[in-house]
Amino acid sequence: MILPGITNKTVLAESESQDCIRLIDQLATTHHLEADEYLYLLDHMGPFEYAHLREKARRLTDSIYGKQVFFRGLIEITNLCAQGCYYCGLQSNNQTAHRYRMSEEAILATVAEGYRLGFRSFVWQGGEDAYFTDERLVKLIRTFKADYPECVVTLSIGERSRESYQALYDAGLDRYLLRHETASPELYSRLHPATMSWENRMRCLRDLKDIGYWVGAGFLINPPGQTNEDLVKDLLFIQEFQPHMCGIGPFIPHPQTRFADKANGTADQTVVLLALVRCISPEILLPSTTALGTVDKEGRSKGFAAGGMVVMPNLTPPDIRKFYEIYAEKKNWGDEAAENVRKSIETVESLGYVAALTRGDHASYKEK
Ligand code: SAH
Repeated sequence: MILPGITNKTVLAESESQDCIRLIDQLATTHHLEADEYLYLLDHMGPFEYAHLREKARRLTDSIYGKQVFFRGLIEITNLCAQGCYYCGLQSNNQTAHRYRMSEEAILATVAEGYRLGFRSFVWQGGEDAYFTDERLVKLIRTFKADYPECVVTLSIGERSRESYQALYDAGLDRYLLRHETASPELYSRLHPATMSWENRMRCLRDLKDIGYWVGAGFLINPPGQTNEDLVKDLLFIQEFQPHMCGIGPFIPHPQTRFADKANGTADQTVVLLALVRCISPEILLPSTTALGTVDKEGRSKGFAAGGMVVMPNLTPPDIRKFYEIYAEKKNWGDEAAENVRKSIETVESLGYVAALTRGDHASYKEK
């Protein structure tokens, strides 16, 4: 079981509690811990110690981004996928999935709608769909850049060759999201078919960073078989690789996968990792994810309290959105894009944050 103290709401003995608080303070000041220190925290921390961690994480967030929550308009461009990630409902051998792909025109029309609603930052996400060749994507990115010079897009369509990432970068793309899923090679191999490799996932992330992208990594909370030792590897990876963004969300079983009857990750487990990652990298862009809002109706607000400050309201046209089912019962705010946006702004502001429909730059960003 990951995070036993959090999961069982353990009240620690005085000395253990003090050890946790000392490590949390050290992390929040130096942004660095050793493997055994992370493991101690994950093995012991209870709700009391987490409250202390959360305070530190939120204070660091406020010192850099204030109360802003960055909005990015999510467009799920295709659910065709050549890969076979065991946890994901889009995996190629899920015969029951209804497959769709948005045309370039449909993607740009959805961007136009998002722009009209105020969005200046978009995420195009999808399965690994061979239709989206470099040639097609280069053309699409150039058109987007020409039509919306003040906007940015983050692409999230999986593993590609270095040459491909370079070609897209040269066309004007400068943000790419590719969760590493887990920094443990052994766990990775139990969550993916033999045709996929942890080494290639890491190669992609290194290539993206080398090329000059703002890179988003990220990992799953409580996929089948995960231990605290695995999570330590994720924390060390973030500490060392220093991605610009990190998507952290609970695993949620999908009925048409081999993990259909496995337990999901909880919001309380997820926010501990959000807060730790915030303390490792005060400037990192951290989403309070849809998956977090799906497992717990308070999930989003728990995410903000732990240092989350990005949300991605779904702009995908409602008639196809229901088919982008990476996990069961994916929650969306409302139906129509406009309704979705209105509700998400309302939620964010009612919790005391400021909805920022901007480019949502990383704090290190300098105008070129
Ligand atoms: N094909 C792209 C996008 C994948 S979908 C890529 O490979 O990056 C985006 C993310 O959804 C994945 O990175 C994964 O972490 C998450 N995801 C997939 N299945 C999930 C599940 N069952 N529960 C929770 N998150 C899941």
